[in-house]
Amino acid sequence: MKHKGTGSKRNKALCGSVSPWPISLCILTSLCGLLLTPRAIAQAAGFDSGRAWEHLRQIVSIGPRPAGSQSLEQTRQYIKKQLAADGVTVTEQAWTEQTPIGMVRMVNLVATIPGARADRIVISGHYDTKLFRDVRFVGASDGGSSAAFLLEMARVLKARKNALTVELLFLDGEEAFCLNWDDCGKPGAPDNTYGSRHYVSAGKKSGALAGIKAHILIDMVADRDLRLKRDLNSTPWLTDIIWSAARQQKLDGYFVPQTTRIEDDHLPFMEAGVPSVDIIDLEYEAWHTAKDTLDAVSARSLQIVGDVLVAALPALEARLAKP
Ligand SMILES: [Zn+2]
Repeated sequence: MKHKGTGSKRNKALCGSVSPWPISLCILTSLCGLLLTPRAIAQAAGFDSGRAWEHLRQIVSIGPRPAGSQSLEQTRQYIKKQLAADGVTVTEQAWTEQTPIGMVRMVNLVATIPGARADRIVISGHYDTKLFRDVRFVGASDGGSSAAFLLEMARVLKARKNALTVELLFLDGEEAFCLNWDDCGKPGAPDNTYGSRHYVSAGKKSGALAGIKAHILIDMVADRDLRLKRDLNSTPWLTDIIWSAARQQKLDGYFVPQTTRIEDDHLPFMEAGVPSVDIIDLEYEAWHTAKDTLDAVSARSLQIVGDVLVAALPALEARLAKP
């Protein structure tokens, strides 16, 4: 876990009455705050896994949260309340889906943080959990971690000067209703990724999809034993930006160079031509079992992914600044 504020306290002391620094230095800079080191500034504005962990704990405590359930509605209320507290605007995209268990009402939550440009970077993650009738599945990493991560990221990005508008997209209906990902469904209408497919299809019709310049998908990022492989179904240049930031942060022991191939909520975006990257640790012992609880996840893993994503944003914005 991270210790916020230690850096800024130390730097403030430089301008105090017992400071060995000449007082004129403080006058010169007008504000003692300007003496903060870049590292202290980064810490002050950085991703706080303590906050993300509290969101995760609250969301998991709601219990199983499958699409269409009352507990998922409760999760939405929690998410909306937290975003409102951070001053972030959120809208609902609601619709009804034909699924193997009948008609299910689904809702994507779209939180927008305006930037200097109207063009968007979308950071998404699903907030539903897989439906199990025989086990109590609370999805701490699978469904919980992405929602908690996005909530803390909203706070961080709200306090940041963003070159592009950032959209935090909480996706419903990622999970299949049938036991396995491709047990049910028909060609063109699979039994999974309902939320991302609906979002992309609506965005194509309205024209809003054209404003998305990059899409970062967060999924299952709280595994205690975090090991994120490069996904070969993702956009290579976007993956490079994230993995380079991890190297610069000396976190390449977690963002490893090995590759994998993942089917997830990024595929509808990829098919629509939106550059996308999936940050996912699918090699998770507790995956789709009753063991995907708080015991299997860690705040440290959320911190690692948060630090890397925040560190990657300037490079991503620089890349997107080019015509
Ligand atoms: Zn899952």
